[in-house]
Amino acid sequence: MRNRHLDKILVRLDDLDAVNLAHLVQRLAKERMLLEKLFDAIQEGILVVNEGGILEYSNAAAHRMIGLCEKETPECPLWKVAPELARCLPLKMSDKGPEATVIAREIELTYPESKYVRVYMVPFHLEKERRFAIILDDITDDAQATEARIESERTSSIFVLAAEVAHEIGNPLNSLNIHLQLLQRKLQGLAQADTLAPSVAICINEVQRLDGILKNFLEAIKPQPLALDDLNIFTLLEEVLALLSQELSQLGIQVSVEANPDMPPVLLDGNQVKQVLFNVLKNAMEAMDSGGTIRFYTRSDDEFLYVYIADEGKGIEPEDVGQLFRPFFTTKANGHGLGMMIVQRILRAHGGQVGIDSKPNIGTIVTLQFPLKARRMRRIEHKESL
Ligand code: ADP
Ligand code: MG
Repeated sequence: MRNRHLDKILVRLDDLDAVNLAHLVQRLAKERMLLEKLFDAIQEGILVVNEGGILEYSNAAAHRMIGLCEKETPECPLWKVAPELARCLPLKMSDKGPEATVIAREIELTYPESKYVRVYMVPFHLEKERRFAIILDDITDDAQATEARIESERTSSIFVLAAEVAHEIGNPLNSLNIHLQLLQRKLQGLAQADTLAPSVAICINEVQRLDGILKNFLEAIKPQPLALDDLNIFTLLEEVLALLSQELSQLGIQVSVEANPDMPPVLLDGNQVKQVLFNVLKNAMEAMDSGGTIRFYTRSDDEFLYVYIADEGKGIEPEDVGQLFRPFFTTKANGHGLGMMIVQRILRAHGGQVGIDSKPNIGTIVTLQFPLKARRMRRIEHKESL
């Protein structure tokens, strides 16, 4: 990029009078400001490093991405201000590598916050000295989407296999159940009945319990297409609370619902979201042995609606938080361990996610994050325009 005003000054340096010089310097400053503003408006991070590895320039996005503070630049070694980045780049600047080599790689930065960044390093010359432009592109959202996709593919293939196994187990279980009941009937009136009947009764009970687990599991993994509609989460909550009201009052639990007067439009599958609310509320109730209050409130930003369900229950041990969404993970004697897995599946199908924030003996906050209708529409438009 040539600087016209600077060229003018350099060419006419000898015969410029003070007024003209001042004028040209002013225009030069203006041009510099324009370029600075332009570079700061770019959402990719841009850094310029010289051959000695010294950082000479960084735009606002780069400051944010690698957590630089103003006073650290310019003229600081890159390894000092951004060690994670420097470590990932072949920054032996003194090595004269192939002139036109552009390096591109994806790295994970943990400071100032965890993110995935695609880095391009482009060599160029300025006043005969070699420099490197380092361009940083934040791809955290893409990387997370890929991770979620891999995870959901992994779980869905496990589910297909599990569904087949469950189906296969169902038939012999059925036959066991029938024969055990026959046995029970034949035992009646026999001399050994007193000693054998309790064992047969236990077998029947256990077979029926297995059958229950199987049915619940098959129900939970049945794929359900989404039927989205403009719905209000508070209306769905009311319907779920009506179902649970008796149980809630028996347990001495109040539910405090904080209305949100500025609810943005969200597209929801009513039945599935009711299932989510039911599962989350049920877990909250089961965690609150000695009563208390469950708080329900919402918040939104430009992209998402956040629904919070906060209980005052026993909380979750830190080592269990990572397991919650696994099928069959339960800490309850009669739990099935499918509730949170279903919650996560439904939220993901809506393009959202579930968050857990818990402190043992204090309580748990479950966050349901739904994309706003406007965001969904933008995504659809974007996909169609590709
Ligand atoms: P289940 O309720 O059948 O055990 P879930 O999938 O619904 O299965 O929940 C899995 C586990 O997560 C529970 O057994 C419990 O340990 C934990 N859990 C979920 N929600 C809460 C909560 N609000 N408070 C405490 N523990 C919870
Ligand atoms: Mg549950």
